[in-house]
Amino acid sequence: MSVSPVCPRCGEVLVVRPESTAEGWCHLHAAVTPLHHTALVAHDAITAVCADARVPAWVPDPMPTDWAVTGLAWGGEPGARAIVVACAGPAPLGGSAELLLVAEEPGTGLGCGYAGLPGVDPGELIDGPSTAAVRAAGQRAPLWPVPTRDDRAAFVGEAYGVWLWLVTWPGSAAWLLAEDLGLLDLRERVYPDLPLGPTSDHLLPGA
Ligand SMILES: [Zn+2]
Repeated sequence: MSVSPVCPRCGEVLVVRPESTAEGWCHLHAAVTPLHHTALVAHDAITAVCADARVPAWVPDPMPTDWAVTGLAWGGEPGARAIVVACAGPAPLGGSAELLLVAEEPGTGLGCGYAGLPGVDPGELIDGPSTAAVRAAGQRAPLWPVPTRDDRAAFVGEAYGVWLWLVTWPGSAAWLLAEDLGLLDLRERVYPDLPLGPTSDHLLPGA
């Protein structure tokens, strides 16, 4: 079940012409890559999006205990140029936490949209020594912290030649990065018991 595409930078519902599915129109941001999502995340939807995606679909590997995938969004179709995988689960000190993993081609503006930044790419935010890292498909990917809203934490780096963003709610859920987080590209393998959960509140930018 597909729902209306939104702007990758602000979450506004877009006007997309049937003859031009690669581009949508946002009143604030003009021409943008339409961000699609499904009302409920399902294995077959993940497999379909991954089949022709041009960027990775990252999930934690292994998934933290009692965590699940809680949303999937993709920019542009066919051949997604941006993919967001939302995950959620219990935080170690109580309460719940959410993690968005974003892979996007430069110029899309999705990661900046979640972080609440005005531009489309991190630019000079990637400067100086990195403060964290993940293993993305076995390769070390350094990450830089990004200034963002009080309710979240955001990091950006690069993997497979495209931006890799991690955004967590609350900000303290960045503890996930303290434990040598490994990421699997679902284009390699959507395993049948990948745990799925109800849709994340933060799946779309602007939330
Ligand atoms: Zn917009």
